[in-house]
Amino acid sequence: MNVFVLNCGSSSLKFQIIDTDLEKIANDKDICLAKGLIERIGSQALITLHVIGKEPFKSAEPIRDHKAALTYISKWISNPETRIPGINSLDDIHAVGHRVVHGAERFKMSVKIDKEVIAGIEDCIDIAPLHNPANLKGIHAAKELFGPNVPQVAIFDTAFHSTMPEISYLYAIPYQLYRRFKIRKYGFHGTSHRYIAYRYRKIMGIPREQVNIITLHLGNGSSACAIKNGRSYDTSMGMTPLEGLMMGTRCGDIDPTVIEYLIHKEGTTLDEVYSVLNKRSGVLGISGLTNDMRDLLMEIEEHQDRRAILAVDMYCNKIKKYIGAYMSALNGADAICFAGGIGENSPEIRRNVCSNMSYIGLELDHELNEEAVNGKEMEISTPTSKVKIFVIPTNEELVMARDTVRVILDVPRVF
Ligand code: ADP
Repeated sequence: MNVFVLNCGSSSLKFQIIDTDLEKIANDKDICLAKGLIERIGSQALITLHVIGKEPFKSAEPIRDHKAALTYISKWISNPETRIPGINSLDDIHAVGHRVVHGAERFKMSVKIDKEVIAGIEDCIDIAPLHNPANLKGIHAAKELFGPNVPQVAIFDTAFHSTMPEISYLYAIPYQLYRRFKIRKYGFHGTSHRYIAYRYRKIMGIPREQVNIITLHLGNGSSACAIKNGRSYDTSMGMTPLEGLMMGTRCGDIDPTVIEYLIHKEGTTLDEVYSVLNKRSGVLGISGLTNDMRDLLMEIEEHQDRRAILAVDMYCNKIKKYIGAYMSALNGADAICFAGGIGENSPEIRRNVCSNMSYIGLELDHELNEEAVNGKEMEISTPTSKVKIFVIPTNEELVMARDTVRVILDVPRVF
């Protein structure tokens, strides 16, 4: 079955075409046939389309909206010169899997999209105004393009965390506010944390119930997850992705009083303050240079910029604190797993995070740590380390494709 996996952001669209079915899932034989990214939708868009095994096609063209972006991709798919193996036209796409950021308490697992599900996703816009509208645009555009006979499935970032217990997900505010408005921690990056836990269990050859680990998804957005008996027990992001770790441009945990104080002092609006906390804080806000970790590390190497060093140290220190907290919450974990663009590619950041952690018996093998870049899945702790350390490149698209197949065939979809 060829599954078109779609991830629509506010001005970007990422996709993969994955050939998978129940047999391929069972034998880990799913194949990614093609993938692509369209950025800066709404103006002169940057387009990268890639048939696996061939040279990527790159272009810059005006693309008005998500529908126009999908139409562009569909023409590329159907173009005889593109030659995606086994795909000659849109008719060879059998299903679509959509990443949906917020499923609130309503969606605890992936579901087939129908009118009711769309209404449910719309209901979540209130608490995910930055994300769910873009996901919905993708759903509507894909429906128009692929027609009513191609089933579509929604895969929620929040779903994996729906197993969190009350003590993890409640905020210490009046309980009625949770009852009335469902104000609580939901957590995000669930598809990624779920995949990392799945790979860990495969590497170790253990059943799901024996997975007790801390997963770190460190990208532009970053989050930590405490996984107990194979299920999400706690996670660092909150009702929205703003809470938790320091990120590329998001502040992470902060005293809420700061918001009112800033409005008062700067004479700005609430919207402007949220824009600062979401888009101009974190690594960018402290360094004053960039939100891009690779660029920042290069800057440090070349100029030893004080604020760049501070930003990196703060970023890592926050991760260390969450590891400590989750070690306590889990009564110890068997492994710490790094993933995401930073977690998968930056030996410096992993070294910084794992330094001075002997109190929990964490011993990084520095040589292996240097080797673990460019998508390598490997253990990077010493044989004597009490807690193992892994780099596990994440693959959210694979989870999405597999869930799409399982939902359509109505088989259980526990990873
Ligand atoms: P997103 O959250 O946007 O999906 P990614 O998971 O792709 O983000 O991660 C992007 C981040 O990973 C950027 O900050 C980028 O600089 C960082 N990154 C990628 N490669 C490296 C590297 N070799 N060293 C350090 N950081 C890296």
